[in-house]
Amino acid sequence: NLEDIYNYVVISIIGTGSFGTCYKVKHKTTNKYYVWKAVDYGSMSLQEKELLVTEVNLIGTLKHPHIVQYFGRIIHKNSGTLYIIMEWCENGDLNSMINDCKSKNTVISENFIWKVLYQTAKALEACHSLLNRITVLHRDIKPANIFLDKDFNIKLGDFGLAKILINNVNFSSTVVGTPYYMSPEQIHGFKYNKKTDVWSLGCLIYELCCLNQPFKGTDFTELKENITRNRLPRIPAIYSDCLDKMVKLLLSSNHEFRPSVEIIIHHPTVICNYNKDA
Ligand code: ADP
Ligand code: MG
Repeated sequence: NLEDIYNYVVISIIGTGSFGTCYKVKHKTTNKYYVWKAVDYGSMSLQEKELLVTEVNLIGTLKHPHIVQYFGRIIHKNSGTLYIIMEWCENGDLNSMINDCKSKNTVISENFIWKVLYQTAKALEACHSLLNRITVLHRDIKPANIFLDKDFNIKLGDFGLAKILINNVNFSSTVVGTPYYMSPEQIHGFKYNKKTDVWSLGCLIYELCCLNQPFKGTDFTELKENITRNRLPRIPAIYSDCLDKMVKLLLSSNHEFRPSVEIIIHHPTVICNYNKDA
């Protein structure tokens, strides 16, 4: 039974995030590793509880090879803790990989970057296509939310800020997520749409190439100016022209020029480069 707290032994603490602490645990009868996200709900405000419920319900509905698999939840009333049981992604997240490269003065291989592009787009396609008449926009695509399994396949995770949109009409105009990856339409107060996730994907791919965010600023005003101006240097010379062109396409200021995730995963250049790695 995966939903019995006494069937697990805690191996180590992975890290603490905004909602709680992640533990690596071992299931006693199967000897398999999982991640427990322990969330202390006792001290939460109603709004925080609602956000948590959204996250838990959302990750429970998505089953996809490139989305962090959710296996259940355990409510431990005595301590006011909710344990969310997830797939263990043993190679960490892309944020740690970027920091590793920075400190060791290394770069991320082009093949791996194409793989991130293809597999993240696949995960987003599952989110964007109508699943039981619900559309999910991730809204917080960033290196820290892209996990890596034992074979360095990507797993999109952390749906804490995602929003379930019933019937695909109630698009939210609320600004959430990481400001560095904020899109031009969000800056101009337009609604968040599927192409906004494509913009963030472009920012992510650019960051993997440069080990730095494409748009920066000492304050929010400067950041918004840089995003609006959208003047990006070429990605480092070790990467191909075709990767540079692809990143710039994803980062089209006008969302109508940005490819949809369906177009990305069917794009000959993307497929060809993805297959090089496989
Ligand atoms: P945050 O709220 O800041 O996003 P999280 O609670 O999501 O933090 O994650 C805390 C730490 O645990 C991070 O270092 C993250 O990389 C790691 N982590 C989260 N989920 C998993 C997972 N499924 N497999 C491996 N590591 C994970
Ligand atoms: Mg997280």
